[in-house]
Amino acid sequence: MYCNKCGSYIPSKRTVCSNCGAPVPDPNAPAPVVEPEPEKRSNGIALAGLIMGILTIVLCWLPGIPFITGLLGLIFSIAGLAKKNARSKGAAAAGLILSIAGGALSVFALFAITIPGVTKYLAAAEEAKSSYASAMGVVWRNWMR
Ligand SMILES: [Zn+2]
Repeated sequence: MYCNKCGSYIPSKRTVCSNCGAPVPDPNAPAPVVEPEPEKRSNGIALAGLIMGILTIVLCWLPGIPFITGLLGLIFSIAGLAKKNARSKGAAAAGLILSIAGGALSVFALFAITIPGVTKYLAAAEEAKSSYASAMGVVWRNWMR
């Protein structure tokens, strides 16, 4: 056979190239299996869950957004936990807890901040409308007199 590196002929019994010293691949050995890095990928999805969980906590006071990040955090964290990879489980579990806590906080924020704010705004608008109506009523009555 011939050397992969320099191309010179190598007698079949030799394990290194006599010309350049490169190791000769054993033609009978199975081709090295290239793993698609499952560890990195599962870490990635667990990390995505963790990031979404943190975003949910940080953005919990905003209406709407924490529900999206919380849902994504739940999905990614559960996917991360489902993978058979011990290293990513911590991040996935943290992401799951943060997503749930952030979701609960955002529901609390919705009732404590957003809905009272909207209610207050509507009440103020109603008051403005009725005071406008009464002011117009005064104008109208003076006009008719
Ligand atoms: Zn060689």
